[in-house]
Amino acid sequence: MKPRIIVDMDNTMYPSKFAQACHDLYGVPTSRDVELLKWEWHKDYGLTDDQFYAAVNMVHASQEDYDPFPGAVEALADWKGRGLHITIATHRRPEQTNFTPLLQWLWDNRVEYDAIYMGLHGKEALFGPGAIVIDDRPSTIEAAVRANCDLVVTLAHPYVKKTVEDFFPFSRMGENWDEIRKIVNIHLEEENSWKDGLA
Ligand SMILES: [Mg+2]
Repeated sequence: MKPRIIVDMDNTMYPSKFAQACHDLYGVPTSRDVELLKWEWHKDYGLTDDQFYAAVNMVHASQEDYDPFPGAVEALADWKGRGLHITIATHRRPEQTNFTPLLQWLWDNRVEYDAIYMGLHGKEALFGPGAIVIDDRPSTIEAAVRANCDLVVTLAHPYVKKTVEDFFPFSRMGENWDEIRKIVNIHLEEENSWKDGLA
């Protein structure tokens, strides 16, 4: 069976500027650098989770303002061309019921995919052998490795580096999407040559 690709949206497919949204909503002196250094950085600024997720919702509602990371769309098209099944998996809170901006963004950017999963409580239901997970959330990376996913890859944001090191070689990171694509493709080719050896 060909592997399934499960790919995250926020800060994986596009740079979602949550810190800027928090600045706009609450006036806290945050910059993009802040959100790249530490997961749950918003707590250091006295913001509650509800406040933070209101900012997240604001970013999601205006997703058309954001461009994909260079190479992200091309990587998905490459994997689709190789016959892999691609699921866009993105966390949504119950109060977020307008999915049009996400669908519009996928359409506008010609993103190739087979399914969309919007989980209220994480993506773990999708994980298991045969899955290749592309995601930047440290706890999701750990869950994917523990669920015996074939491979977990993330962009090398500072907040995720320690987790990737802890779970290497099952989790890997790329400085950009060209590197992510290369890591996944080398894995796919190694899998194939191993299986060819059995035949
Ligand atoms: Mg993410």
